[in-house]
Amino acid sequence: MYIDKNFIPKIRRECLHRRSIVLLILLFLVFLFAFWNIQILHHQEYREQALRNINKRVYLQAPRGLIRDRNGRLIATNKLDFTLVIRRERARNLSRTIQLLAPIVDLSEKEIRRRIRKYRHYPASYAIPIRKNLDLREVIIIKSREEEYPGIEVTHKPMREYPLGNTLSQIIGYISELSPEEYQKRETYQLGDMIGKTGVEKEYEEYFRGKRGYQDVIIDHLNQIKDVVYEEPPLLGDTVELTIDLDLQLQLEKIFDGYSGVIGVSDLSTGGILALVSKPDFDPAFFTSIKSEAEWKALIDDPSDPLTNRFIQGVYSPGSTFKIVMTLLGLEEKLIDQTSGVWCAGQTSIYNRMFHCWRDYGHGWVGVRRAVAESCNIFFYHLGRKTDIETIGRYARLLGLGKATGIDLPNEKTGLVPSPEWKQAALDRPWYRGETISVAIGQGPLLVTPAQMLQMISTVALRGKSPRLHLLKTIQSEDGVVLTPAPDFREIPIKKEHFELLIEGLFSCVQEGTARRAKVEGLDICGKTGTVQVITKENPEYEELVKKDPFKPHSWFVSFAPKKDPRIAVVVFVENGGDASQVAVPLAAEVYRRYFNYER
Ligand SMILES: [Zn+2]
Repeated sequence: MYIDKNFIPKIRRECLHRRSIVLLILLFLVFLFAFWNIQILHHQEYREQALRNINKRVYLQAPRGLIRDRNGRLIATNKLDFTLVIRRERARNLSRTIQLLAPIVDLSEKEIRRRIRKYRHYPASYAIPIRKNLDLREVIIIKSREEEYPGIEVTHKPMREYPLGNTLSQIIGYISELSPEEYQKRETYQLGDMIGKTGVEKEYEEYFRGKRGYQDVIIDHLNQIKDVVYEEPPLLGDTVELTIDLDLQLQLEKIFDGYSGVIGVSDLSTGGILALVSKPDFDPAFFTSIKSEAEWKALIDDPSDPLTNRFIQGVYSPGSTFKIVMTLLGLEEKLIDQTSGVWCAGQTSIYNRMFHCWRDYGHGWVGVRRAVAESCNIFFYHLGRKTDIETIGRYARLLGLGKATGIDLPNEKTGLVPSPEWKQAALDRPWYRGETISVAIGQGPLLVTPAQMLQMISTVALRGKSPRLHLLKTIQSEDGVVLTPAPDFREIPIKKEHFELLIEGLFSCVQEGTARRAKVEGLDICGKTGTVQVITKENPEYEELVKKDPFKPHSWFVSFAPKKDPRIAVVVFVENGGDASQVAVPLAAEVYRRYFNYER
């Protein structure tokens, strides 16, 4: 049988061709059906769904950067906070909604109305916070009523948490909702964002803040998220590590319990603050919750002034601690030297006026060293007579008084170093010579902060190398170190030998002078006391009044140790504490014991 070799392939070719056409037609039909299905059959259904589901961008707040101590221990962190909010634009019946909520969140209807009213200038779509820190039970109850009472919602976002309570509150400061004024000034912030208001929280706000994220979501008519289309997660803020040693801090908090005033400790190798207690203090969590008017009033009207950081914002007379400035002035200006001295008989007449030593029966013969150790007023009155207020002002400023120390905390006060120009401008009177005599023992219109005193005694300890006090050790992001400031020292133009002679006096002060109670076995401590009367001895009721609380003198002790190669400097200031030798001095001794034991 004969078969054409080309026949079979030809048939196959035709067959394949026909099959392709059928396939194409089938595909076309499938597409047509799908199109018809979407466009015609389900058109109405899809349209309705699209109307119900609205695309929306939901912003995700970044957790605030952490605060740690020098050894990495946590000082401030974040927790998840559930907050009840009301959106006015969605609320159908605001009165009924408030009635419902009051018993659930344990607030009066009046208080809820007050909270809503506070936001009356905000857009109606704004989520007005009514109660923060909801517990799980409250969350469940509110959630179950959301459908029935549109406009109420429970939001959750990271919230600052201070696990140590009041401890370090004066350094850390607090955060709170940014005000409409702050909002106007800051482009990257949204209404309702939290912002650092005081302390470290304010100083390093830009680092703490992190980066807000967002979700593009589809929500239904009940405002519930149905689907997340896209998410950009928020970025945690940077971690701020402080120079604070939390172990030492907690011990000093205990030592200073019940007192009002300051204990500050500086690390003399860097100028970093190792511990800083300023009392009274406050609970920073107060500002991250929502408080009633009465609670606010109680805090603001509190006569003990707990929101003031006395270390940088308390201004006080330096009292006899100012004799440190006068001693250096006298030596540097060659008004006194190692051999000079005066006879203290308890009182002396200068410019036809009687000036008194604190010791009525006098100190007898006093040279520089004993004058510092015993804090003899007569010695410094005579020194004051040999100089003038301008020179005193110059040395005070050289040692950092009359200006901010530049510590990394906001709102530091500068205190006051008087001058004739200042007096003319402030009191419209000329400066009198007799006033210079008072300033020479630290009285008159001199005002200093405990921070300035700590900087001054640190400078003395380092024989004229003045450290810039600071709290920041380092800032770290998730990718590594962002910022580590280098220690910053300024050289004071006063001869080293003059510091050495002053330090001999400060050492004697602890060994045998007014600060004997600061003696600690095996440690050479140097320091100077200051007792500042808050009522004059001329007051006829002085003897009675001075024993009572608001009239007791303020109590200073500035010190450092060891004498050779000093490691730390300490300022103790006790508001209305009483005699410095009895109050500030023993407190400082306790600080040294804790620090050097603890270090072992
Ligand atoms: Zn004297």
